[in-house]
Amino acid sequence: MKFFSSLIKDFSAFTEPYNKKKYAYNGQNCWKDIGYNEVIMQRDTAFELSGTGFNLITSSPVESGVTVIGDDLGDITESRKFARVSLVQLEQQEDEQKIYNLIRKVEYVKYHYFPEGYMMRTSSRSHKEAVRVSKKAVKNGISFETAGNLLIKKYMENPAVKAVNVVFVTDHKLDYSKLEALALKGNGITEALNHIMNSVKFDCETCNLKPVCDEVEGMKELHFKSMGM
Ligand code: SF4
Repeated sequence: MKFFSSLIKDFSAFTEPYNKKKYAYNGQNCWKDIGYNEVIMQRDTAFELSGTGFNLITSSPVESGVTVIGDDLGDITESRKFARVSLVQLEQQEDEQKIYNLIRKVEYVKYHYFPEGYMMRTSSRSHKEAVRVSKKAVKNGISFETAGNLLIKKYMENPAVKAVNVVFVTDHKLDYSKLEALALKGNGITEALNHIMNSVKFDCETCNLKPVCDEVEGMKELHFKSMGM
């Protein structure tokens, strides 16, 4: 599955110069999941993180774990920009419809992720992601490692998910607009796959997704194939 390959390469190159803390995945060391979306009031908030959250899907090997670029949750004292990027390795799959279904299912994982004292706001139509972290959670030692382990555990509930690396970025020095541009491209790919798998119309010259399909290897062939042509 190569749809997101160039984005994964760009993401690795972009983050390569920055210091990273890496934690191997440990499903026994997860932050508590409270099972519902907690409302954290302003007065109970330690800080807010706002920025981008998106998945990059591959069938190439990924090392399961959490990577932190910048300060961890316990070291942040005021609201700032952030990004969460999940590199998700899916099982090798030839059937495009199954690949597409898996990509959609992986996208929904964020709606079933409820770490205590970590209120996430996100939308299905955008790559924006914001997190409000409670003072109590900071006091109790929440970290990206434990919050990230919980997120990985949620992804892994799907047996087709083989490994996940969740990258949290809070470093002030990063150009977050570049990450947003990557997220937008990722959205474009998912949108094009959506169109391809659900549409009987195959006319690249009039299609608004042409810039995406011109850039991403295999998209036009996939649409061609899905039409039985
Ligand atoms: S292959 Fe052509 S028609 Fe299909 S989504 Fe891409 S640009 Fe549109």
